[in-house]
Amino acid sequence: MNRRRLASTAFMLAALSLAAAQGLFQQSAAMRLKQAFNAPEISYLLLDARSGETLAQQWPDADKPIPLGSLVKPFTALAYRAGHSGAFPGFQCDGKQCWRPGGHGKIGLREAIAQSCNEYFRKLAAFVKADSSERIAHDYSIAPPPAGSGSGAMVGECGEWKISPMAMAHAYLRLLDAPNDPVGKILLAGMSESADLGTSLRVSAVIGRHRALAKTGTAPCTHDRHTPGDGFTIVMWPAEQPRYLLLVRLHGEPGSHAAGIAGRMVRTLEETRVADAD
Ligand SMILES: [Zn+2]
Repeated sequence: MNRRRLASTAFMLAALSLAAAQGLFQQSAAMRLKQAFNAPEISYLLLDARSGETLAQQWPDADKPIPLGSLVKPFTALAYRAGHSGAFPGFQCDGKQCWRPGGHGKIGLREAIAQSCNEYFRKLAAFVKADSSERIAHDYSIAPPPAGSGSGAMVGECGEWKISPMAMAHAYLRLLDAPNDPVGKILLAGMSESADLGTSLRVSAVIGRHRALAKTGTAPCTHDRHTPGDGFTIVMWPAEQPRYLLLVRLHGEPGSHAAGIAGRMVRTLEETRVADAD
């Protein structure tokens, strides 16, 4: 066998063993998650951030549009940008229309994503025209907010804007595609801050700081066994160049609690990966 052929055979074998290892990870990841997180209150989707492939799923009807609460906020920001040039405005949050009593004070886009400030996004959405939100929804392959809906829908309140969990997971992966886009950069920085000290704080409480990007949401419950609300968290990790995306829904709890489950799932998956590499 000549040298070139030998090299290409070695390359092929390496690629095959990598594919086998990835396949193994996929199998054991799906199994570990199923063992440890099979409670009926928990739904999840695990995606490969590079290929978009679904690695694990415990979510019946993941293609059915449902309210996902504040997970829509990055797309509201992008819809604003579609109609405006220049820097994003700052707004005053006095808490009257925000989940946080007393408000967030003067707040900009990055912190508004990290803290999921409703008042910031209500004020921003007031400047967003319907054709901009439709364009962004089309670009990111998610359902647009319903015609005639107001800024509440663009904040993710009232359960008006419905998007399928699978489509939302893929739309978040698309946010990773343009790391040098100025707005994309702010959104990802906001999600890093969310995981470290914002509404997704429980993610870093489990896996440590600077390890993930995250965003939470809370929306009206869509289960048959009805509760006032369901919590959602999207986590993408490792923070510097995400390889995985996990979308978690926790029945009957707010998004900040879903973040704790998401953090535990990430830890479980990381342990699985280490075990596979042994
Ligand atoms: Zn606020």
